[in-house]
Amino acid sequence: VKPGATEANMRIDPKDTFFAKIVNGTIPVQKVYEDDYCIAFDDIAPVAPVHTLVIPKLPVGGVGDVAHVDLAKYKEHMGHIMATIPHIASLKGIDSYRLVINEGAHAGQSVRWLHVHIIGGKSLGWPPY
Ligand code: ADP
Repeated sequence: VKPGATEANMRIDPKDTFFAKIVNGTIPVQKVYEDDYCIAFDDIAPVAPVHTLVIPKLPVGGVGDVAHVDLAKYKEHMGHIMATIPHIASLKGIDSYRLVINEGAHAGQSVRWLHVHIIGGKSLGWPPY
């Protein structure tokens, strides 16, 4: 388990995370893409030549929190994100990439605000662990 990927961090209210501040504009980031549903920005600690994060503009800690959110809004945001990822990837100049969502400390999640990693720009190994 990586530093930050702790059970304590998983109990943080999404609205108190760093990513909430990116969504509400308190902390500026170099945006790759933004629309009414999501913001995409480059990961501060990239694991590959392209490593971009896409976060919904809906406070949700992770895919495991589905029971605690407005389901219609959640589906709208996540469906939109999935439909928009190819465009975001194209803005980064790639059409081959891996999508990763870590759910929970044991999967390596460190920030409890749902985020999709777009990873690419090189040949990726498999399995991913
Ligand atoms: P992990 O931190 O183990 O990769 P996550 O799936 O929770 O787990 O991913 C959080 C991601 O957010 C990490 O890849 C991390 O590098 C990135 N990150 C943390 N702070 C910032 C920041 N200020 N700007 C951009 N990316 C960030």
